[in-house]
Amino acid sequence: MFEKFLAGKTAVVTGSNSGIGLGVAHQLARAGADIVLNSFTDRDEDHALAQSMADQHGVKARYIKADMSKGDECRALIETAGACDILVNNAGIQFVAPIPDFPTEKWDAIIAINMSSAFHTTAAALPLMRKAGWGRIVNVASAHGLTASPFKSAYVTAKHGVVGLTKVTALETAQEKITCNAICPGYVLTPLVEAQIPDTMKEYDMTRDEVIKKVMLERQPSKEFATVEEIGDTAAFLCSPAAAQITGTTISVDGGWTAL
Ligand code: NAD
Repeated sequence: MFEKFLAGKTAVVTGSNSGIGLGVAHQLARAGADIVLNSFTDRDEDHALAQSMADQHGVKARYIKADMSKGDECRALIETAGACDILVNNAGIQFVAPIPDFPTEKWDAIIAINMSSAFHTTAAALPLMRKAGWGRIVNVASAHGLTASPFKSAYVTAKHGVVGLTKVTALETAQEKITCNAICPGYVLTPLVEAQIPDTMKEYDMTRDEVIKKVMLERQPSKEFATVEEIGDTAAFLCSPAAAQITGTTISVDGGWTAL
């Protein structure tokens, strides 16, 4: 699978200075794509990630700062990249609270970063893909784009929205050699998930191991976290020639969560 089938293509991966986004960027670079990394910070270490990706995979890689909570910055990311054959909408945040206590600013931020950013980047990327006569859009949704959990109202709403946007994008591009699909991961042990562990430990008076086993992996029949490389491999597959006729669908990488 890992011959350089993406050589000459440019992949823009939003929210890619850690976790799944960085894992996806590595697997696309491994398949030969030039990479644009992104987040809202502008630190030396962000640019160093791009340099190390270029060194490791022999591709061009750069880091572009853009805040995915702002529509104009989403669009500017694609304009600054200049080319965008592959767009991976991955930036995301999480906040957990019952609906009456859910702070409006958290709701707005989650909807903007986890959902609306994908609309803005897609709108900016499609003209470039149409000009190139080829394109791949991979939206990182979630098992929570297909199912729900209490206290995750904004996240579940945003991820269901991303699945809907995926289908509409696929229909609008179906005859143009452009595909759009969503990956729905279950739990992957990234900084986003690590950040939820201390609060859950307090809430349920559990150890870290108990939270992982009894709260998180309880939902995954495999009883294992997926890895960022496995999510990245799925993204690379969706960009490969084998997936040319796959569009408008979701691929769950969730150890069986959504089969329950
Ligand atoms: P993470 O915290 O490691 O990564 C999130 C990325 O988004 C980071 O690079 C962060 O800098 C970036 N980001 C946050 N706010 C941003 C903003 N305003 N502008 C630009 N970038 C911003 O978490 P992760 O688990 O790797 O999450 C990546 C995606 O995967 C998210 O969309 C998340 O919802 C989804 N996801 C994660 C899991 C999981 O278990 N980890 C499961 C399902 C879906």
